[in-house]
Amino acid sequence: MRIQLNDANDASELTNFLNDACKRELSEILRFFLQNAQTEILSLLACRAEEIREKYYGRKIYFRGLIEFSSFCKNNCYYCGIRRGNFNARRYRLSDEEILNCCTIGYRLGYRTFVLQSGEDVYYTDERLCRIVSAIKTSFPDSAVTLSLGERSRDSYRRLFDAGADRYLLRHETADETHYRKLHPPELSLENRMQCLYNLKEIGYQVGSGFMVDSPYQTYDTLAEDFIFLRDLQPHMVGIGPFIPHKDTKFANYYKPSSRRTVILLSLLRFLLPKSLLPATTALGTIDPIGREKGFKASANVVMPNLSPIEHRRDYSLYDNKICMGEESAECFHCIAGRIQAAGFVPDFSKGDHFDWQMEAPNDAFRPTANK
Ligand code: SF4
Repeated sequence: MRIQLNDANDASELTNFLNDACKRELSEILRFFLQNAQTEILSLLACRAEEIREKYYGRKIYFRGLIEFSSFCKNNCYYCGIRRGNFNARRYRLSDEEILNCCTIGYRLGYRTFVLQSGEDVYYTDERLCRIVSAIKTSFPDSAVTLSLGERSRDSYRRLFDAGADRYLLRHETADETHYRKLHPPELSLENRMQCLYNLKEIGYQVGSGFMVDSPYQTYDTLAEDFIFLRDLQPHMVGIGPFIPHKDTKFANYYKPSSRRTVILLSLLRFLLPKSLLPATTALGTIDPIGREKGFKASANVVMPNLSPIEHRRDYSLYDNKICMGEESAECFHCIAGRIQAAGFVPDFSKGDHFDWQMEAPNDAFRPTANK
């Protein structure tokens, strides 16, 4: 494909190309943008991606309050600092009251989305989680609850949805089977992870997937597989962030410190899925002091400041040197809001649904019919 990005027409050609290309063609275009493209082309790419984002979301950057409520995990993903095999990890769990207290603090600050994230912790049964979700929805009925709890059964996802959960984040991490095997132990399967995502969508969640950028063994071919999977799944959100190693993993010395490739991929994802919600992740801000600002300028439109109790933040250590570990929730909130404004964007504290949900639910009344 001859890459022209001079106007909106060229932009829609790139969207069509990404949606029709075979794996080899995707791999080539990814190599072009990530390895060979000149600065002027990359500037045009980001510019056109911003125009697409503005068409659907304006210059709004949506806020989500992140509550990391358990650092226990039954899994052993090779790259993860809180995997069960890391005996240096400090484990904690928040009680129902502590979780609700985080939401209360967040709500007073202005948050209208709470993201409940944990390792795969069997202590949190369906019953316990449904009770927590429903308590949040009762106390804050104008807020959305996003869950990020890993792989669960279809029935469990269904029960949590019925309890009021609105969205679910589950990064697929890599859509290439061989690559997946190099990052995960044999008891985990890519097939099950993908099935979980399809189950979540079918139930009626707004679904977020995503992958690590520059993870060990990643190639242009594996990235092409990621794009193919995302265009099949059509998620509402896509979370990507640079791979940052954790000292207690076998990838401790694997380091490619760069925000550049994540930023380029954010723009390309905007072309692939024009209406998607794309976070400028904390990992992007960790690897580059102005990484999140670069992300916004590449069309990212979500941030997830931390609402977790300050005394536990360091213990939810998926990777090393994570930023914002010592700041109170209010400090984090005001800091990132100020940075967004300084970069020329508009902090937005509404629920911030996906564009199609906003169209159908101007007064929050809409909830998609679930397929039982
Ligand atoms: S990546 Fe998720 S599932 Fe895997 S060990 Fe870490 S917390 Fe557990």
